[in-house]
Amino acid sequence: MSFLKTHTGNSELAERFPEVHPPLDVQSALLEANRCLYCFDAPCSAACPTHIDVPRFIKKISQGNLHGSALTILDSNILGASCSRVCPVDVLCEGACVYHRYNKHPIEIGLLQRHAMDAFFKNGAALPRTGAPDRQARVACVGAGPASLACAAELRLRGFAVKVFDRRALPGGLNTHGVAEYKLRATDSLREIEMIKSLGVDFAHGTSITGEAELARLEKEYAIIFIGVGLGEMRTLGIPGEQHPDVVNALDFIERYKTGGNLRVGRHVVVVGAGNTAIDAARAAVRLGAENVHILYRREEENMAAFQFEYEGAKREGVRFHWRTQPVAIHTSAAHLGIAAIECSRVNVIPSGDGQKMEFVPDSSFELRCDMVIPAIGQSPLLEFLRACRGVRSEKGLVVVDRATGQTSHPQYFAGGDCVNGGREVVDAVADGKRAALAIAESLEVAHAQK
Ligand code: SF4
Repeated sequence: MSFLKTHTGNSELAERFPEVHPPLDVQSALLEANRCLYCFDAPCSAACPTHIDVPRFIKKISQGNLHGSALTILDSNILGASCSRVCPVDVLCEGACVYHRYNKHPIEIGLLQRHAMDAFFKNGAALPRTGAPDRQARVACVGAGPASLACAAELRLRGFAVKVFDRRALPGGLNTHGVAEYKLRATDSLREIEMIKSLGVDFAHGTSITGEAELARLEKEYAIIFIGVGLGEMRTLGIPGEQHPDVVNALDFIERYKTGGNLRVGRHVVVVGAGNTAIDAARAAVRLGAENVHILYRREEENMAAFQFEYEGAKREGVRFHWRTQPVAIHTSAAHLGIAAIECSRVNVIPSGDGQKMEFVPDSSFELRCDMVIPAIGQSPLLEFLRACRGVRSEKGLVVVDRATGQTSHPQYFAGGDCVNGGREVVDAVADGKRAALAIAESLEVAHAQK
């Protein structure tokens, strides 16, 4: 069954979540492509974790060769379409463009990449045959997020049989379920995965690999296991009232409106945390109809983890920020049993030893009226799963790998993405998956030659 038949999108969602960066039309794309200087030592390519050959794909756009341009992108990054929408280009390729040196606007690399990739999918998303011989060795990828998808695609292109195991019905990890809809639609993520499936990658949906017994079975059936499980549940606030059903963590909130068909939101929403996921949730709450959306953050504005452009976008949409503010309790109305308010206190975060400690400012507590609370204070590691991976070393809940190969302390296991780096960009996960695939292919070829 096609993933796109399972999830067809939602017209109301499309209306409420118009894209933040509309696509370029043909004329604008040509004009922008012709502005590129096609730098020999392209800093934009060096700044891309997957090292897409940016001047080459832009040159092809300027020549009207959109298909060739897309193939150049896909050669480095099989998720080039979703990355064109979700990459923080300001701090990656566009941030490195030489035009900055002349105080000029950088080339719109993200939009040009999207232009080429949209044309590719519109025209059938046909990848050329690689001619790689079918190889006997089989690889299992656990998790169906960007790292596993990139690993699986690269190995399949090299002729290896690959099966991706995922606990959910739809693959894609955060790309499908956890990125704000105005950046990347679930249908766009799924069409990209259909392309990977068309290479011959096998998918096992709704299959949880969580314990030692399941991993032991994979170890017997597969030559190599790639761990691309991402991170676990979102951290909880640890305050009274948190068990109320209208306290919904940010990833669950995004997933339920994006792929779960539940567009319900409070009128007065409080998001706790100031990372990019917190901003995604706050902006989604605005678009779903909340009248007031507040973000609480215990540190100062300059300490927030969200990118500046995400912060600016949220402010433009009316989200209000409260710095040095810590929630201490969620209060319920005795009359209607819904959430009535969140009690907060001002805090000072001060250095303490190697770290920091938080001090409450005396007599600073106040209440904010709200009927929905969205905690967005990061994800916990998948400790239970990592304990089940016998022989795979992890530290502070993250898998330890050789950075050049992605290999773990157990020679049969490789890993990449958020479960290794603690939660970075989609493009970092793709780079990890591809790097591991190249090392896996090499190790399997050596093993085959020695037989
Ligand atoms: Fe083009 Fe800018 Fe990259 Fe140079 S740095 S190749 S001008 S996009």
